[in-house]
Amino acid sequence: MRVGFIGYGNMADALASGFVGANVVKFADLTMCNKSNVERRESFRARGGTVVETARDVTEKSDVIFLAVKPPYIKSVLDEVRREISEEALEPKVFVSVAAGVTLEAMEGVWTTHDQKPPAIVRVMPNTPCLVGAAASGICKGSTCSEESLHRALALMSTVGVCKVIMESQMSALTGVSGSGPAYVFVLIEAMADGGVRAGLPRDVALELAAQTFYGASKMVLETGEHPGVLKDKVCSPGGTTIAAVHALEQAGVRAAMMNAVLAAANRGDELA
Ligand code: NAP
Repeated sequence: MRVGFIGYGNMADALASGFVGANVVKFADLTMCNKSNVERRESFRARGGTVVETARDVTEKSDVIFLAVKPPYIKSVLDEVRREISEEALEPKVFVSVAAGVTLEAMEGVWTTHDQKPPAIVRVMPNTPCLVGAAASGICKGSTCSEESLHRALALMSTVGVCKVIMESQMSALTGVSGSGPAYVFVLIEAMADGGVRAGLPRDVALELAAQTFYGASKMVLETGEHPGVLKDKVCSPGGTTIAAVHALEQAGVRAAMMNAVLAAANRGDELA
């Protein structure tokens, strides 16, 4: 499979590195274009990838094309593709937009406003843990995208983590949970490590223990299938240290704070749409 990236910033690099790390493609199968960042181009080339100048070149050289520019530029790069490449030549390809808030209708509109048939387009909301094979992503398909094309993109995304097929109307909610979610967890890991330092641990030890604790607790939720509330109850002995800490978290409103964080990102996603 030849995979292309129109726009090659943080997200595209995390995806490309994840796909190569998962052994589904080699860097030699990857093509990218960006606007002007020479460092990114040189590093991509040094790893064996092909750097081209335009969105059209990326599209011609790829079977699956990631649209990884910032949301305001998505329509203009697609319009460049529409003007330069015929509907027939686009037919076997799949475009995968990772842009927050840009709807399938808006992307397909680049073709439909010219009475042309849009190519297969899917929307994906990935997150940066795809870099370490632990993404939590969502995917939905456009009106002219076949099930086969959807599954091609889904299979690729599934090599770098979990990818759930969702309705487009749920995209902002997914952004609130997993798209923006790594940042909430990074904040919590840092805070937990600060607590450890306050209680007397060296910084490096506290940070590693905090990160490993999030990792281990997440692994238990995923692998045991038990409700997190049940797992929490199992580690809270009467009058013990853990229930004292849970009490402190509840007093600080940690659940409401997390729910509000998810809603804030979801609402912002709606505003950007
Ligand atoms: P970024 O690091 O700023 O990368 C944007 C890329 O687009 C850069 O390579 C830039 O080139 C390139 N670009 C801009 N205009 C272009 C044009 N006309 N033609 C070709 N390339 C062009 O942004 P990012 O964080 O990776 O985000 C990219 C997309 O991923 C966004 O739509 C965002 O919504 C989505 N996303 C990001 C995350 C995340 O965690 N970062 C999560 C989910 C979704 P230069 O580098 O040369 O300027």
